Amino acid sequence: MHKFDPSKLEKLDSPSRLELFDPEKVLREFGLRQGMTAFDIGTGAGFYLPYLSKAVGESGRVLAFDVQKEAVEYAKRKTQELGLTNVEVLLSSELSLPVEDSVTDFVYMAFVFHELENPVEFMKEVSRASKQGALMCIIDWTKEDRDKGPPKEEVFSEWEMGLMIEEAGLRAARAVKVGNYAFGFYVLKPG
Ligand code: SAM
Repeated sequence: MHKFDPSKLEKLDSPSRLELFDPEKVLREFGLRQGMTAFDIGTGAGFYLPYLSKAVGESGRVLAFDVQKEAVEYAKRKTQELGLTNVEVLLSSELSLPVEDSVTDFVYMAFVFHELENPVEFMKEVSRASKQGALMCIIDWTKEDRDKGPPKEEVFSEWEMGLMIEEAGLRAARAVKVGNYAFGFYVLKPG
């Protein structure tokens, strides 16, 4: 699966992306709370960082990861400009997150799953870095004809995503439509 073209990072940071879905509402519904540690995996331009930062508050923290150094630089700059003091942006590699075991309460991954080279192995790595009982919100484009996002042939169906998540040892609880173009999978690391 090909990676997002980093020369288009600014497009990822456009306020028009709020038309996709309301991030505050989605994060609340998926269980993100004050004081939690949250991951933003594949942060890109860090578009969702202000919402994650606000949701966890001063007593929580957000660790954002990306495999592309242009994205990490962009998201770091954004974090500094907005004064998001509870956010740290880190360079990761395709199958490895630079953190200890069992550190996060919540995992957010938006429009990344279809870019993963090995989704099952990657989700095992996400599981390693998550606490028992951690909640996850995995959002991706629907596998249907759309006037936004990659062609449907390049994304997974809810069914395919659910099978890969379960193969990684996580519980794929249910998928819900978020906005007109995407779905979100409720995932749990069994405790
Ligand atoms: N989540 C952001 C958003 O919705 O605004 C960015 C989405 S962008 C389409 C996908 C991002 O995931 C790219 O920045 C890409 O470099 C990153 N990515 C792809 N595979 C990754 C992996 N294995 N680990 C971390 N980041 C990854």
